[in-house]
Order: sequence, then C-alpha cells, then structure tokens
Amino acid sequence: MKIYYLNNDFDYELDKLTSVFFPNKKLDAVKVNDRNELALDDTDSEYIVIDLTDELNISVSVHFEDYTDRKTKIITEDDDAQLEAALLLYDLLSSYTKIVPPWGVLTGVRPIKLFRKLKEQMGEEKACEHFKKVFLVSDEKVSLTLETEKNEAAVLSKTTPDSFSLYLSVPFCPSRCSYCSFVSASTERTAKLVEPYTQLLCKEIEKTAELAAKLGLHLESVYMGGGTPTTLSADQLKRVLGKTAECFDMRGCREFTVEAGRPDTITAEKLAAIKSANVDRISINPQTLNDSVLKAMGRRHSAEDFYRAFELARKCGFDHINTDLIAGLPSDTEDSFRATIDNIIALSPESITVHTLAMKRASDLSQNGKQLYADEAAAAAAMLSYADERLHFFEYYPYYLYRQSRMVGNLENTGWSKKGREGYYNVFIMDESQSIIACGAGAVTKIALPTGKLERIFNYKYPYEYIDRFEEVLKRKESILRIYDQSR
Ligand code: SF4
Repeated sequence: MKIYYLNNDFDYELDKLTSVFFPNKKLDAVKVNDRNELALDDTDSEYIVIDLTDELNISVSVHFEDYTDRKTKIITEDDDAQLEAALLLYDLLSSYTKIVPPWGVLTGVRPIKLFRKLKEQMGEEKACEHFKKVFLVSDEKVSLTLETEKNEAAVLSKTTPDSFSLYLSVPFCPSRCSYCSFVSASTERTAKLVEPYTQLLCKEIEKTAELAAKLGLHLESVYMGGGTPTTLSADQLKRVLGKTAECFDMRGCREFTVEAGRPDTITAEKLAAIKSANVDRISINPQTLNDSVLKAMGRRHSAEDFYRAFELARKCGFDHINTDLIAGLPSDTEDSFRATIDNIIALSPESITVHTLAMKRASDLSQNGKQLYADEAAAAAAMLSYADERLHFFEYYPYYLYRQSRMVGNLENTGWSKKGREGYYNVFIMDESQSIIACGAGAVTKIALPTGKLERIFNYKYPYEYIDRFEEVLKRKESILRIYDQSR
C-alpha cells in the first residue's frame, strides 16, 4: 500500500503507525513536494495521502476499495504537526479497521522514557492525562506506565556519575528458534568459531578494562547476553567471566548477570563455572511451559528441561533467577499461557519477564508466511492482562518496559520483579542515561553524552567478521577515549 507524504517528512513515524493497523501489508512511502507531482497510479486501489501543502492545514485521506474518508485540521505554529497528522490518521484507520491500539499513537520503543520526560515537565497527573488524552493510551497501559516509571526511577536514582555497564555478547545458539530475528549463529554450523571467538572476547575485555580505568569510569553492572551464552563450555565461560572479574574493579558492581537462556544448554558444571565468577543473577528462559508450542517454535527443549535447569541453579546457590516468557506464540492458547504463568510463579523466581511475540521480518516465522491476525492480538492482550493480575497478586512489580515493531496486538515487553530484585542492566539499557560499553560480535557501545544523546561504536555483526577483523575492533574501541574527552 502506498502512502504519499505531500510536503512533509512524517514517513518514519506514520509508516510505523499505519503498520499497527495493517501489520501484514508492505508499505511504500512516496515523498512528494508539490501536489502536481502526486501522480496516482491506476493500479492504486488502496492508498493514503498525508498532506501538509498548506503548512497550517493538515489533511489526511485514506482510500480503500470499500472505504474512503478524509480529515483535516487547522493548526498553529506551536502545534506538533506530525503528532496532529498521526492523530488524524489514527482516527481514520481505527474507524475503518475497528482496531483500538492499546498504546494509542505511540509507536516508540521507550514509552517510559517519554513519560518520565513529560512528568518532569508537567507533573505526574498531567503526564498521565497527556498519555490518555493526547496519545490515546488505554487506562490499563497508563497505569502500567506509571508504576513502571516509579520502579525504574528508584533503580536509576542509585547510579553515580561516571558509572557504566558492560555488555558481553555471545552470539551463538545451539539451533535457531523460528521467531528469532537476532544475529545469532547456530553452533550446528559455526562450532569451530566458538573457541577463537572466546579467546578474542577475552582480549577485548582486557582492552576495555584498560580504557575504563584510564577514564576513571566505575563499573555498575555486567550483562552477558546472546544468543545463548551457555552455548559456551564450562571452561570457556570460566575464562570469559573470570577475565571480566580479573580486569575490572568489581567492588562497586551492583549486578553481574548471565543470560543462560535455553535450558537445554545448562549443566551443573556450567552453573558452577558461572557461580565461581561471582555472577549473582542468571536468566533461564522457557518462553512457555507447553511442550507442543516449544516444539513448533523450534526450541529444542521441553518444560521438563526448564524445571531441571531451574532446580540445578537453585542447588548451585543462585538466589536471583529471572525467567523469560512470551505471550502470543503461534499455537499457544490463553489457557496454556495461564498455566505457564501460574507454574512459573509457583517456582518463585525473583523476576519474570513477559514478552509479547514480535514478528520480525528476518525470523523464520515471517519468512514462512506467518501473518499477524486480529484474534491472536486479542488473545495476546488477554494473556498480558492475566499476567498483570497474577503477578501483582504475588507481589511482582513492573520495573522496566519496552516495545518493538510488529508485536502481536501492538503490546509490550515488561520485566516484573519482587521488590528489590530488579534487573539493573535492563533499566539502564532502556533509559539510555548510562553508558553501555559492549564487547563481542554484534555488540554496540553506547556512550551517554551530557546532551542526552548517545554516541555509538559498532562492532562487527557476525562472529567470523569479528574474528577476521579483530584489530579493527580494538582500534574502534579506542575511540571511547576521544568521545569521553570531548564530552567532559
Ligand atoms: S535462543 Fe534466543 S537468540 Fe537463540 S535462536 Fe532462540 S530466540 Fe534467537
């Protein structure tokens, strides 16, 4: 479907908003500066026109086979023209599709950050009103936002200037899950890269520690993520985590997490190796406890494997375990999701992250033609409402939240935890107010500048590139010194 942007650059935001209503349609943004250039194709049976030819008069029209409508609004120079256009578009598309997105016109990844900014500007009550009345966010999501922001703020209030977090990337997985769009190499094909990768990752950690010490930075949290970090052997884990503990000053480090991930990769030996490096938080991720759904997703483990890994981790002494779940997985039902939530809560993990399936185009699911359907969206919304109710009942609180494009039902991912058991790194990465220095393939270092902006340094995406061009990786890392020097 074509969307014509006449005399405006709203395509990035308004394409995203249109996708909320038509998640399966390919959108084609056409930018035109003059109305006379608007040459509609005879084959255009469906199109949208966002017209700002007269700068103070916005017009949005939608043209579908069975429906045509147009809305206009006179604005002033003080109005946010893009937001006004989004509201007109939302109105038209919601009337046509009968879809009422729970996050209204908000399409960004970080609604909590936006809420915090508004709260600082206008106070809590008015910020809530703004979310409801201007952005059209549902009451349920406003209340989730309000609670999450408070819990996030409590974590952020304890950070110190010049603190940073360290991210260690292990972009390997034993096999690929069908919903995954992540740059993760299946070890079925890349097993021989794992050892050289481990050795170079240790070198990059060493270099990073040198730079951090030179800059007088203080390490506040470490997160080893993936992929599936426990694809590494016990010995490899020990070397990478040991190198981290050896090179950095860990005295002020508030959290050291390993995202163990897939239960089929977790052994007592690996857990002992992780524990011996003083890792104090791990994540074991079943996604669902329904074996047939796991099988359909290409997750090569069972619910039983998850229970076994969870018990092993408790026996090994881990007193902060997070579990990741996904709502809206194909073939999962509301009853089955409810059972998963209830059974996970019964284990009493310290934190539970409830994701909503995001149908990224690079995933096998999307490539194989899976579409997003309205009934699945309604089921996912009901799953999240159930999770919200049960988690609150058992005294879990939302402490971070983010959204992705192409999520089933345009919903969200929320981290829940027992009081005082929040995952700090998750808050830091979402708030973007703290620098994250990242090591490994696919890792992106983000230096938080005093202006509120981020300066990024990209490592090579794939393990083979990282290995082949490692000298360049180290060279790029040096630029941390320049960025900090210029910003101080
Ligand atoms: S375990 Fe995670 S990163 Fe690995 S393939 Fe599955 S979804 Fe992707």
